[in-house]
Amino acid sequence: MSEVLELPIRTREFLAKTKRILINGQWVSSVSGKVYDSINPATSEVIAKIYEGSKEDVDLAVHAAKTAFENSWSKVTPEERSKLLNKLADLIEERAEEIAYLETLDFGCTISQSRDAWIPGAVSHLRYYAGWCTKLTGETLQLITGGNYHVFTKREPLGVCGLITSWNFPLQGACRKLAPALAAGNTVVLKPSEETSLTTLLLGELIQEAGFPDGVVNIVTGPGETTGAAISNHPDINKISFTGSTVVGKSIIRSSSDTIKKLTLELGGKSPNIIFADADIDKAVQGAFMAIFTNQGEVCSAGSRVYVQKEVFNEVTKKLVELARNMKVGDPFDPTTEMGPLVSKKHLERVNNYIKVAKNDGAKVLIGGTVLTKGEFAKGNFLEPTILINLDENCRAVKEEIFGPVLCIMPFTDIDEVIERANLTQYGLAAGVWTKDMTKAHKIISTLNAGTVWVNCYLKKDTAVPTTGFKQSGLGYELGYPGIEAYTKLKGVVMNFE
Ligand code: NAD
Repeated sequence: MSEVLELPIRTREFLAKTKRILINGQWVSSVSGKVYDSINPATSEVIAKIYEGSKEDVDLAVHAAKTAFENSWSKVTPEERSKLLNKLADLIEERAEEIAYLETLDFGCTISQSRDAWIPGAVSHLRYYAGWCTKLTGETLQLITGGNYHVFTKREPLGVCGLITSWNFPLQGACRKLAPALAAGNTVVLKPSEETSLTTLLLGELIQEAGFPDGVVNIVTGPGETTGAAISNHPDINKISFTGSTVVGKSIIRSSSDTIKKLTLELGGKSPNIIFADADIDKAVQGAFMAIFTNQGEVCSAGSRVYVQKEVFNEVTKKLVELARNMKVGDPFDPTTEMGPLVSKKHLERVNNYIKVAKNDGAKVLIGGTVLTKGEFAKGNFLEPTILINLDENCRAVKEEIFGPVLCIMPFTDIDEVIERANLTQYGLAAGVWTKDMTKAHKIISTLNAGTVWVNCYLKKDTAVPTTGFKQSGLGYELGYPGIEAYTKLKGVVMNFE
């Protein structure tokens, strides 16, 4: 039995006080004074109380961000912005252990994942975009109609940006938006998910410690329907960057249309992962397993539909079941745990309901399918890793995003058939292909309608690689250069000097 890690004293101190919202450099209670509970998904205990922002708080935050944009942040040089972002990255690194604990406590991902992947990922975003602060440029151009003109483009920040994040990867998700927005010279109002707000609030403390001017980053916590909607409706917000479900993404398109805001939407997915008979089967099996069960399956680009060429279907299925059987589900603070609880009771019920629906549709449960309710699991939101077969593209479990540890495996015969079936979805976030034949791989790359395609790997993410969703999986880009370009506007200038 390995040792279960204890919460650091600093984390206990952080949790002890009702968490306030950050407006214009001050931690304040919300105008309404209402609070909501932050719940530990492994035990269902209340771990913190958080002030609930409303439209009034969002108005104050936007006013602070607008004032800071006009009066202070615009005067900070690109070099200074870069130093501030790097300083923030340093502070996260210094307290990485403590932040990883807080992430695991609030979200339920295993401590090894938050420590080794999600917190370093946040640092990577900050450092990468710190580098871009000093490299944003326009171009000089020639008029095709000639004449004595000095013609150039000028890249400028957008102004106040509203950043709304989902509950999975809270800190990394926040930094993925915050870093390019600030690097490009914008100010922000940031709203974390009400399910997992804590590391974003700690980030606010570090932003102050790093020395960002007051009002550059404002953090308003609260529910989506009120606080989130107040951000996406606000006339003084010029851009919304949203990560979340496709349903809410569509409502943000509607609500932002009155003031024609710029939008980046990172939405849901139902990503296919295709294993050909000629693949390195053991590698493909490991990859397909990790692609769905990492982070309890609460990953937007999880490989939730695995298509296996029929010659190797039995072998792959058997090996995947074996891996699932040996997967250690449990206390996310135990370093040997491989899968923690789902984020909330509501989400657990939603995921479990998909398993019931799949069974009604004729699915066979090869392993899992049960909510764990006894002993150490009694109070938390634990579900067994679940593998389903006997499904086709018409089943809801295959068509809809489950966002949990549920894998649908389906056999296929040849490449054309699998391409057609893999594309039979409203989503287009990501896809994987496992083969030794690069001709086949290139055909898949060209024909799959997905914003990211992984070949002989999966979930290999990197800050330098732009990510987007095709079809109903999103709008615009995050990460890489397109990820910062999305926080700028390009002005065309034509100067006559005759
Ligand atoms: P969600 O859509 O319920 O909520 C996302 C955020 O939007 C939360 O902060 C929420 O409070 C806020 N919100 C809710 N209603 C709102 C409204 N009317 N106006 C403004 N804001 C509102 O999603 P979730 O359950 O937090 O996250 C899971 C979803 O996020 C999944 O669909 C997943 O695929 C998606 N996701 C996508 C990516 C990506 O990069 N494509 C990454 C992570 C998660």
